[in-house]
Amino acid sequence: MRLKIVQVGEPVLRQRARPLLQEEIALPETQQLIAWMHETVREAPGVGLAAPQVGLPVQLAVIEDRPEYSKDISAERLAERERNPVPFQVLINPRIIEQSAEQAEFFEGCLSLAGFSALVKRSRRVTVEYLDDRGQLRRIEAQGWYARILQHEIDHLDGSLYIDRMDPRSFMSIDNLTRHWKDMPVQAVRQALAAAAE
Ligand code: ZN
Repeated sequence: MRLKIVQVGEPVLRQRARPLLQEEIALPETQQLIAWMHETVREAPGVGLAAPQVGLPVQLAVIEDRPEYSKDISAERLAERERNPVPFQVLINPRIIEQSAEQAEFFEGCLSLAGFSALVKRSRRVTVEYLDDRGQLRRIEAQGWYARILQHEIDHLDGSLYIDRMDPRSFMSIDNLTRHWKDMPVQAVRQALAAAAE
């Protein structure tokens, strides 16, 4: 079943989600929710979906960066983003236990801010601890786009959205991103946006 993705302004997106209890993870309704969230994020399509985005304030998110999502992005831009496919993953009660001071800045979007994008700085590397869909404690060390996806989803569980971290001058519609900026290196985009301010 495809779930309804709520848009910015819905109070649940600004709440701190509650952790799931170990015994809740195995419940049929939790497993059903995971399956529906997987279906929903694939159909959107998107690379991640957090439970608050489907109206539920619990610490659960799914991520998946399928190879076909990158087929229209040039090899140069993919290398710049350090973007590689990520297999489907369920994150329950995730927390960032380490993050690099070194940051990377790229355009980012969100299924709850449909049609928009902006430049967002995030740590280039993170270490995340979480429970998987069987309640097993796991740890991921991620770099590049994968690290970005993890930070974006964990922000959702804290009631944060990328617009809280974006460079406001870079906020734009995805149509205009595609039309004017998509194939430019981030440095060139920044320069063009800065020049326009003078
Ligand atoms: Zn999002």
